[in-house]
Amino acid sequence: MDERTPWPIIQQRLVDASARLGTTLETVGQVDGEEIFRLRFGRGVRVLLAAGIHGEEPGGVEGCVTFLESLAESWQERVEFDVWPCLNPYGYIREERHNGQGVDPNRQFRNPEDPLASLMWAALGELRYDFGLDLHEDSDFKGFYIYETTDRPPWFRRQVRDAMARVGPVCERADEPTVRRGLVPRGRAAEPLRQRLEKRRLWPLAFLMFQLSGHAMTIETPVLQPLAVRTRLQLAAITKVLQLVTARAVPLAETGGRRRQAGD
Ligand SMILES: [Zn+2]
Repeated sequence: MDERTPWPIIQQRLVDASARLGTTLETVGQVDGEEIFRLRFGRGVRVLLAAGIHGEEPGGVEGCVTFLESLAESWQERVEFDVWPCLNPYGYIREERHNGQGVDPNRQFRNPEDPLASLMWAALGELRYDFGLDLHEDSDFKGFYIYETTDRPPWFRRQVRDAMARVGPVCERADEPTVRRGLVPRGRAAEPLRQRLEKRRLWPLAFLMFQLSGHAMTIETPVLQPLAVRTRLQLAAITKVLQLVTARAVPLAETGGRRRQAGD
């Protein structure tokens, strides 16, 4: 049984959370007749946070909205947030993975015809971030797992996994995708990641996030667990990422745009 929160309630919670955070709930545009929302607030390290690009993965949206309601305030002196809490409301409302054109919106970020991808590139393409976090779920597994998209240390995956493992079950081993103890292993390749991605035709949002930040992560929580467990997993992931990003980075604004990491 799908326990998702009805869309009108999600919208109201976003309006309320925005007011409490002292910001406005922006409507960036419409896709498939539904509004795409964005919240910007806080100052410091720049984090791009997104959820709900797959409509049958409500835990990402629930985690993101709950974060905005309960935890975001405590981070807003250290983190400049750019939050897109539900990228596929058409799918969310209908409990469908795909968008109104029947395609997977998380493969369209090199497709200039795709409405969501064009809207996001137009809004974000000139901006730079310290980190991008995309919240998903997986319908087939009983445990969570993580993808990390970056080509240089520090990698965050193990620490994020360990933080999540304290609140919910880890996917120990799977083959599609390949998962080992909650992590999708990094491919070993001589060619830099940026060049490898250039050769890929179907881009997920994580690749856009990597283009803008150099460091992206995708969280996959297990739909086979209760929504409350998945929400706690999402919150644990967001919190650990924020701890790691704020510990690591000098905000881009203070370096004139030059990216600097611990040790360089
Ligand atoms: Zn997904």
